[in-house]
Amino acid sequence: MKCAEHPQNDAIGKCADCGKEICSLCLTALADKVYCSSCIDKLISHNTEDEETVDLNKATRKKTVGAILLGIGIVGFVSSIGVMFVGCSSMTNMDDPEHMSIVFIGFCILMVTFLILIVGTILFSVGKGEIKKAKNQNISID
Ligand SMILES: [Zn+2]
Ligand SMILES: [Zn+2]
Repeated sequence: MKCAEHPQNDAIGKCADCGKEICSLCLTALADKVYCSSCIDKLISHNTEDEETVDLNKATRKKTVGAILLGIGIVGFVSSIGVMFVGCSSMTNMDDPEHMSIVFIGFCILMVTFLILIVGTILFSVGKGEIKKAKNQNISID
């Protein structure tokens, strides 16, 4: 069997990825396997910092969105308390439907705000953790 790239050379192995016959010139050993030159290029380009950068970008975006949601959540929380307080303080009796609806609106805002705060907190901490991980990986690569 001859090498697929070098017909004058005898093949000494088969690429673990594409199965092409390869000679000693084309062969690259990696983790107990041998690869042809084009497959090793593919493998190496797969492991570039591109993925790290994308991960870091994604993590940064998550953290930013989380921080924005937290901000909205806190503003919403404060205003919903304010709305409920206004509704309660202007209520003369429990059967006052107009002011009850104000309190109800305040309560609805509070619930929505609560959800936003939970999602924001999760996104923020996940993003923060991923940024830390990505940075640690970059440091260990260097
Ligand atoms: Zn190959
Ligand atoms: Zn060859």
